[in-house]
Amino acid sequence: MITMSTNEKDNTSLIAKMSVTQLYQKFDTSEKGLSSEQANLLLEKIGKNTIQKGKRRPQWIIFLKNFTSLMAILLWVSGFIAIFAQMIELGIAIWAVNIINGVFSFWQEHAAQKATDSLLKMLPTYTQVIRNGETEQINSENLVPGDIFTIQAGNSISADARILTATSFQVDESSLTGESVQVSKKSEYQHGEGRFAEANMVFAGTIAGSGTATALAVATGMKTEFGKIAKLTQAQKTTTSPLQKELNRLTHELSWIAITIGIAFFIAAIFFVHYPVAKSFIFALGMIVAFIPEGLLPTVTLSLAQGVTRMAKKHALVKELNSVETLGETTVICSDKTGTLTQNQMTVNHLWLPGKEYTVTGEGYVNNGKIELNQQKFDYKNDSDLQQLLEITVLNNNTKIEASQKDSKNTKIIGTPTEAALIVLAEKAGINVDAEIKKVPRLKEFPFDSDRKRMTTVHQIDENHRNIYVKGSLDGILKISDSILDNGQVRSITNEDRQNALDADEQYSKQGLRSLGIAYRTINTKTSSMPANVKDWTLDDTEQHLIFVGTTVMADPPRPEIYEAIQKCHNANIKVIMVTGDGAVTAKSIAVKIGVTSNDARVITGDELSDMTDEQLIGALKGEIIFARVAPEQKYRVVTTLQSLGHVVASTGDGVNDAPALKKADIGIAMGVTGTDVAKDAADMILTDDNFASIVAAIEEGRTVYSNIQKFLLYILNSNVSEAAPSVLFLFSQGLIPLPLTVMQILTVDLGTDMLPALGLGAERSEPGIMDQPPRKRKAHLLNRSIIWKAFAWYGLVASIISSGAYFFVNHLNTGWPAKALAASGLDYREATTMTLAAIVFCQIGAALNCRTQITSLFKIGIFSNHRVMLGILFEICLLAMLIYIPFLQGVFNTASLGWQEWLFLICIPAPLVLVEEWRKKLVRNYLSK
Ligand code: ADP
Ligand code: MG
Repeated sequence: MITMSTNEKDNTSLIAKMSVTQLYQKFDTSEKGLSSEQANLLLEKIGKNTIQKGKRRPQWIIFLKNFTSLMAILLWVSGFIAIFAQMIELGIAIWAVNIINGVFSFWQEHAAQKATDSLLKMLPTYTQVIRNGETEQINSENLVPGDIFTIQAGNSISADARILTATSFQVDESSLTGESVQVSKKSEYQHGEGRFAEANMVFAGTIAGSGTATALAVATGMKTEFGKIAKLTQAQKTTTSPLQKELNRLTHELSWIAITIGIAFFIAAIFFVHYPVAKSFIFALGMIVAFIPEGLLPTVTLSLAQGVTRMAKKHALVKELNSVETLGETTVICSDKTGTLTQNQMTVNHLWLPGKEYTVTGEGYVNNGKIELNQQKFDYKNDSDLQQLLEITVLNNNTKIEASQKDSKNTKIIGTPTEAALIVLAEKAGINVDAEIKKVPRLKEFPFDSDRKRMTTVHQIDENHRNIYVKGSLDGILKISDSILDNGQVRSITNEDRQNALDADEQYSKQGLRSLGIAYRTINTKTSSMPANVKDWTLDDTEQHLIFVGTTVMADPPRPEIYEAIQKCHNANIKVIMVTGDGAVTAKSIAVKIGVTSNDARVITGDELSDMTDEQLIGALKGEIIFARVAPEQKYRVVTTLQSLGHVVASTGDGVNDAPALKKADIGIAMGVTGTDVAKDAADMILTDDNFASIVAAIEEGRTVYSNIQKFLLYILNSNVSEAAPSVLFLFSQGLIPLPLTVMQILTVDLGTDMLPALGLGAERSEPGIMDQPPRKRKAHLLNRSIIWKAFAWYGLVASIISSGAYFFVNHLNTGWPAKALAASGLDYREATTMTLAAIVFCQIGAALNCRTQITSLFKIGIFSNHRVMLGILFEICLLAMLIYIPFLQGVFNTASLGWQEWLFLICIPAPLVLVEEWRKKLVRNYLSK
């Protein structure tokens, strides 16, 4: 697909063919890595290791786009015709409005873009490099050629690099090659077919699928193969979300309705009122302008962006604006247990060995705790079994605990909480963990993965002995154990022994505790059939014939905020399904404890799941259900099946194997703290605190944004009605009632006074009770029947009556109507139209307040709680006052000064509007609570 000069191709293969010594020479480095000074100098010279994504469309094109939509073109043409018809001021005003509207849209889009861009910066990736001979973690942006770095399964590779060492290392290069099969990589040179085929090279933008490797960076940033491709691809692809499509449809429809109404009014003016053509045209123009929903699109974009920013504050980073909308539609959340629903703060509190149980007490990390025996006094040093168990948990462990010097409570874990708990356990027992690790060197590791659910290490004990240490899911470990350590004796394991261990485990699991089985095996290198070189040991050969030692039992309490979050989901009709790698009993116990399911829930284990037909699974998914001991791959099936039932699915994940499910889910959610790069890459949303409650908060925001857009729509539509009503009066009276609102004045409301309060509505906070409603239907329209009714038959109608009333009121004051005819020109007429305008504005003040909630009382959320709406209203009144009192503007907008009686009338408008609506909302609330 991509052509390249032979020169560049040669460069890659040249590096691939070099010996390691040559390579070190070329990059002026060694196995100790670069020095910090070297690295800093290089960084300054060649710049940060970042990819500038394909160029965005130039700003001016985006800018111009705002002036070429159907709506904008309508306004351009209208202005032109107005000028042509000698209404120069009107023409200029329409154009001015169009320009202001365009600039405004541009600015809002820009603000939205900036909001999402800054989110991406909140998510740095890190690389472990070797510099000055020591391992350190740096922001991947600061990686330079010559850096030696380590890669682990789940890492995204951040530079083109030559592999120095590799253990069962596989890479997913699909981002470069489109090929989704993982490729094996090793340190030896081997040339393959095609590009990116060198087996000892890895490339930026690809992802490590399994194994580990160390590599030497040879190119960074835009110099990488990925960077070169990024440079080639032109514009970034933009996708239209369902919401945007719906909005485009809506603006189109409304624009056409506007044109139709305009034409109808044009004809009516000619035939009913016998207006001249030019005048009829201007009259119709007013209607068109009134009904075109200016500002709708940019406001929606801005609302979404504001939603995204608010979500970020609540620990949910959304990658695309579109996801905000989908979040609001979510009907099911498939959630991990460990760390998401629970705190991921493990403490070992029980130990079980054949015939013995210990309760672990004591707090703190270093030595000040002790292990207490339940039945009899016991020192761990006298129990060789216990000693063996602790030895395994210390050595089969990749986690370190760094006590901070300042205060002993503030310790940092480098690794996983599960393993940290085991270290703490050992330290409580008085074992010097660091010394122990130094004493017994590790030869090999089969890392933990969520499919096997265990981890194995091999250690050199003495010249002739190697020990295999295993920890992992108890049921799995019992299956591969054929012996048991029983009071210092190794003997064959019986089914009764297995049952005893499982029974004990069940008792613990019922309390929601998590267990790990511990086992080992000793290899005599002289007599064993295992290969002499540990490198040649396979997983299957190693993880068998084990001697079972016992079980560690740890507590991982639920997050305190989880109870409320789950309750919210129930109220909001969102189903929560726990999908965990942990055991069935533990899973259920926690699920019931935090209220995810009742005690009647069905628990389906991974094994059962693989035997189920799709129909059986569908049946099971309809009831209360928990998935336990499942492999991440099985999550994919659960997600797909739920989607086939019409659900909108949010699913969490953290590991490499979670990626397919995360991609498949409507909202894939990755863990920001414990998640791998792969998971974060595949996800639509990232939780910076790994907390389930943050998902619920994000869903709430998603719902809020959507309902705010509806509030905004209601607000701008209802003023259209009161803008159109005067013209209807004029037409139906066949001109007997002089036009109560001129075209210029319609423009003023539509594009002047209405704008800021409308924007304020887009930023409204969540309405209480928004999480007490079922999720919105996928097919539901933004502009639903209830909004149309409210806009036209309620808010709009009332405002029309009031504003027409104001018009007649002024006529009554000034000309003595109804005894005398209505003023058709002169100061009295201008004062009357000004009054219609002002009355509409004051009705809109009431409407802005009324639109803020759907059914909740305004007094409950606080009349002044949305500052933007308040400022909008203030602005609205100032603008109106300027139009009325500044002589120049009076001329342009055909207005006149109002007197105190008129102001009194105006000021009295909003309060009753709000009170009547409050009463209606109360009736609705009463009805709903029945
Ligand atoms: P969850 O799916 O709830 O996040 P985990 O994936 O953390 O659960 O754990 C699944 C199972 O894997 C656990 O029940 C445990 O038996 C095993 N396990 C977890 N962490 C380790 C580890 N570091 N080493 C060995 N086994 C582990
Ligand atoms: Mg997990």
